[in-house]
Order: sequence, then structure tokens, then C-alpha cells
Amino acid sequence: MVYDVAIIGTGPAGVSAALNLKIHDKSFIWIGKKNLSDKIARAERISNYPGFIDASGKELNDAFLKQVEAMGIEITEAMVNQIMPMGDHYALLAGPDFYEAKALILTTGVNQTGGLKGEAEFLGRGVSYCATCDGGLYRGKTIAVVCNNARFEHEAQFLAGLAEKVYFFPYYKNPGLTADNVEAPAGRPVAVEGEMRVTALKMNDGSSLPVDGLFCLRDSISLGTLLPGLETDGGHIAVDRKMATNLPGVYAAGDCTGRPYQYTKAVGEGNVAAHSILDYLAEKK
Ligand SMILES: Cc1cc2nc3c(=O)[nH]c(=O)nc-3n(C[C@H](O)[C@H](O)[C@H](O)COP(=O)(O)OP(=O)(O)OC[C@H]3O[C@@H](n4cnc5c(N)ncnc54)[C@H](O)[C@@H]3O)c2cc1C
Repeated sequence: MVYDVAIIGTGPAGVSAALNLKIHDKSFIWIGKKNLSDKIARAERISNYPGFIDASGKELNDAFLKQVEAMGIEITEAMVNQIMPMGDHYALLAGPDFYEAKALILTTGVNQTGGLKGEAEFLGRGVSYCATCDGGLYRGKTIAVVCNNARFEHEAQFLAGLAEKVYFFPYYKNPGLTADNVEAPAGRPVAVEGEMRVTALKMNDGSSLPVDGLFCLRDSISLGTLLPGLETDGGHIAVDRKMATNLPGVYAAGDCTGRPYQYTKAVGEGNVAAHSILDYLAEKK
């Protein structure tokens, strides 16, 4: 099935886009997290969201979830690893699954840990974003796992069951991954090294750590890797007032389009992107 729209990301921008597409009866797939966004839930106190007086992030998140459920909107729990233009529509790879849509709304937030130098270049040649898809290729080998959220630890654990040795780089407090073959080096990787395939990681002290592969388990993927050809401006997706990007049928909203990083900006842009897509789909008919 080719959906009218795919929304990528379940923060406030994605919520707003999904509500508006549902009201207008469009077929869409919404990919992200079933509990929406860590960035909503983590806020201690929110004083600038109209209609909520000093709500906690959890209260706002719960209110979004309640509304989404009440409207019968479903979330597909997955990370989109790659998007490919297919002429008149787009194909999306989300782990081992494949989806197609005529138009896209990117609401991926901002990636605070960033990608490593060389990461995009070695994608599919030793760099992977999907333990389930590619883990089997590294049976008995040495790999590195960069992980920016404890919720991905079960994927790292799965990889530790396959690889001979895992260098684990958690970017959060109190990591819980333990296994005899897992080591958490003190330094941080800054670049991916290799020729045809990945051979090592360059570390922040200038040394090289030999590895056969690198798994990046993050809440978001760098924009250039996610959708090649997407125009960016200072690390954000370049958009016009309709939230349109440089690619036909591709719109973006929220933190990923630039500062200020705020809920109400994200919600407003999600609304505009959804309405612009209605026009785009009507013109395409
Ligand atoms: C501690 C804290 C407190 C804050 N307090 C306030 C405040 O008081 N007021 C205020 O206005 N703002 C506040 N903010 C900022 C606010 O959280 C953000 O501006 C807002 O969440 C942005 O919404 P978004 O939808 O653009 O992105 P996000 O909320 O970042 O959501 C993006 C979502 O997309 C998902 N995603 C990313 N890439 C992919 C992919 N490839 N495939 C599938 N899913 C993907 C992510 O997992 C995430 O769920 C705060 C932020 C933090 C961290």
C-alpha cells in the first residue's frame, strides 16, 4: 500500500501533523515511539504552553497520548533508517520493514549527540543503524556500539550475543549493559576509518580502535543520511513558510527546522506542514 503521507517522529510536531491529517481523513503511517518523545516527558515544568498552567512534561505527554488514542491514531514503533525517492513517491526503511508514501513530514527533532565523521559514507559498508537487520553479519567479529538512549540496550545486548567483542559507548547516565565480551572504553569515537569497509574508529585521544563494524543506536539519524539530497541550513532542514523542503512532497516541522526549540513552535509547524500536504496531494490528483 502507498500511504498518502508518512510522518517520521512522534514529538509535538508529529502529534500536531497526525491530528490534522486524521481530521482530513488522509491515509498515513506515523513512525516513532509509542510513548511519543523523551523531550516532552523530561521537562520538569512547562510555563509557556497555552492552556496548561505549570504542567510537567509528563502531564503534557499524557494529554497528547490521550488525544491521539481518542482519535484512533496508531503509532508504528520503529526508527526510519533511510528514505529513498521512487519517482512519484518515497520508500522508507524502518529496521527490517519497508513503507511507501506519496508525501513526507519530517519531525525528527534535533540530534544532540550528532553523527561521527565518515558515518554516512560507510553506511552499509560496516556502519549499521539496525541490530536486527545486520547483527548476523558480525557473528564472531569485533564491533562498536554507539548508544544514546538506555531503551536501545536490549539491541546492544542482542549484538553482544553474536559478536566476539563489543566496545560499548553509552551517551547517557548509568548504563546497564553487562556481558563478559562488552567493554566500555574511557574515550569517545570521533570518526569512522576504513577503505572499502570499516576497519577502525578514530578516538578523541588520536588513537585507532580496530573494529569490523559500527552500530549506531540513536533516537535520530543525521539528516543527510536519512534522506540524501535534502537541503540543510546550519544543521537544520531548510524550509519555506509552507514548511516545504527542497524535495517535492517533503515537508518538515519542529526542532529539526531550527530554533527556537519550543513545543508551541513544533506544534504550529506540524499544523502548517499537514495543511501544505493537503494542498500538495490535491494538486497531484
Ligand atoms: C528537559 C527539557 C525541557 C524543555 N522544556 C521546554 C519548555 O518548558 N517549553 C518549551 O516550549 N520547550 C521545552 N523544551 C523543548 C521541547 O522539548 C522541544 O522543542 C520539542 O520537544 C520539539 O518537538 P519536536 O516534535 O520537533 O521534536 P522531539 O520532541 O525531539 O521529537 C522527535 C521525535 O522523533 C523521533 N525520531 C527522530 N528520528 C527518527 C527516525 N529516524 N525515525 C523515527 N522516529 C524518529 C524521536 O525519537 C522523537 O520521538 C524542553 C526540552 C528539554 C529536553
